[in-house]
Amino acid sequence: MIIVMQEGAARREIEDVMHEIERLGYKAHPIYGVERTVIGAIGDERGKARLQMLETSPGVESVIPILKPYKLAGKELHKEKTLVQVSPAVVFGGPRIQVIAGPCSVEGLDQICETAMAVKTAGASVPRGGAYKPRSSPYAFQGLEEEGLKMLAAARTQSGLPIDTEVMKESVLDLVASYTDIIQIGARNMQNYDLLKAVGQARKPVLLKRGLANTIAEWLLSAEYIMAQGNMNVILCERGIRTFESATRNTLDLSAVAVLKRESHLPVVVDPSHGTGHAEYVEAMALAAIAAGADGLMIEVHPNPHEAWSDGSQSLTPDAFAALMQKARAVAVAVGREL
Ligand code: PEP
Ligand code: MN
Repeated sequence: MIIVMQEGAARREIEDVMHEIERLGYKAHPIYGVERTVIGAIGDERGKARLQMLETSPGVESVIPILKPYKLAGKELHKEKTLVQVSPAVVFGGPRIQVIAGPCSVEGLDQICETAMAVKTAGASVPRGGAYKPRSSPYAFQGLEEEGLKMLAAARTQSGLPIDTEVMKESVLDLVASYTDIIQIGARNMQNYDLLKAVGQARKPVLLKRGLANTIAEWLLSAEYIMAQGNMNVILCERGIRTFESATRNTLDLSAVAVLKRESHLPVVVDPSHGTGHAEYVEAMALAAIAAGADGLMIEVHPNPHEAWSDGSQSLTPDAFAALMQKARAVAVAVGREL
């Protein structure tokens, strides 16, 4: 339910309503606007009738049901865009397009540091690399784990930029969170609800990738799991979905960007690397994503894609990445953004 307070409602009246919401067993999420305050009451749907009674409380103008199931991730309660602050200089959702770039896997200290510096020079703001890898085959390289995190930490120090890496299980969440600035939830874990609840309790930005076969509504409900635990710093990442098409690894759903802009206030990033699976298609889709209104990109870059331990076929060389960034900058400016 959304409790809309009257214009100029007294502070005391707002507090009383919030106390009553909490007394009824709901969480109160106030949004203080310039003209009026609205309060979201989040909790068990069954107590709706009792919340409706708040309509008679002093200072309340109306009580409106929230129609969408994703109450915190949706726009009904929160119209303004959410800004996710990753570091003092890196904010997702603002005018500047943020670019996360780096290898699929951390393979060694030199490899990750060299790539981080190369993507920084080209204008990326968040180096990335996987230390825990969700591979389709159990016989494929699974990641360097904590050793990889230490190498990422060195790349973080050397570049002076915040980093992003994936966490696959709750048992290493604290460890991963102690190294990274953005906690990535991979496509395969988008509906791992216990993991989502756990990152919801972490106080770090979360990059939530779309599941391989999930609808936008399911994706937003996964964001809701994180936000319901109190972590509002969620960045959504479209990375392609399974369709009948086999010319590309996945079908990059760029229309999701437009839908999410309508449905949610959260920043949206597009990953054309996993989205297409082919280095050759990455630039075109990256430019299209910015034109469509994405707040950021995730691009896989490797110093020598032919020798990459994972996802070499979709990884760009540092030179190809720098060329992409030049064009991306022009598209960003054309749509009123910065890069
Ligand atoms: C990744 O970003 O390294 C990754 C594994 O992506 P996804 O979860 O989208 O497959
Ligand atoms: Mn990858």
